[in-house]
Amino acid sequence: MSDANSPKIKTPEWCSCQSVVDRMLDYVESALSTEDQRQLDRHFKLCPPCREFLRQYRCLPTLCERALERSMPEDAVERLRAFLKAKVEDEPSSR
Ligand SMILES: [Zn+2]
Repeated sequence: MSDANSPKIKTPEWCSCQSVVDRMLDYVESALSTEDQRQLDRHFKLCPPCREFLRQYRCLPTLCERALERSMPEDAVERLRAFLKAKVEDEPSSR
């Protein structure tokens, strides 16, 4: 699997966009450890797509999914979809 959509930035503390997406919800809810929170903060500074993703992510639960599709790498959108789907299906209100 190639990672062509990732920025060409490598630092010791760099985490992949994928791992950022995985932790986005916890980040928004301030549920991360201080260390993880700082790691994501750093990632957002260096990674405009993820910054934009975070901005739109904060629209939840309105969730402008189409806007995300335009601005995010396709694989990140797919991951977000799966992630949100699991999250939504976890909500009792979806009955
Ligand atoms: Zn990123």
